[in-house]
Amino acid sequence: MSVPNFPPPRDIDLTNPFWEATDQGELRLPACSVCGAFQWYPVPGFACHPEATRHWREVAHTGTVFTFSKVERAFLPFGSEPPYTLILVALDDVDNARLVTVLVGDDQDSVAIGSRVELSPTVFETHTLPTFRLSA
Ligand SMILES: [Zn+2]
Repeated sequence: MSVPNFPPPRDIDLTNPFWEATDQGELRLPACSVCGAFQWYPVPGFACHPEATRHWREVAHTGTVFTFSKVERAFLPFGSEPPYTLILVALDDVDNARLVTVLVGDDQDSVAIGSRVELSPTVFETHTLPTFRLSA
């Protein structure tokens, strides 16, 4: 199994805090400064409180697989070498946002909806991706 290598854009103020945290081995998502609701992916303003500011909060490094997809063929001619498994993670302390990422580890064939996972970053030369592995 491999991990698709798509370097994140570094010229987007809206998402830079996410990638900067990921490079430090942290996981941060934007939350509404008024009610604390997470909004992922980040977009300008918050639907719940349009006047709110964005607070990047550290979130759990553990969660549950909400759904997954095993990729057997390359979708693009660059940056990805299948096979790999995409997962949608419901983080343990985040109610209203889920993270799309890649599953790593040698035991990927046992993934199922509801599998427990934990952050296991994949470090590339220029960036780090917040990949997850199945929990023991
Ligand atoms: Zn709010």
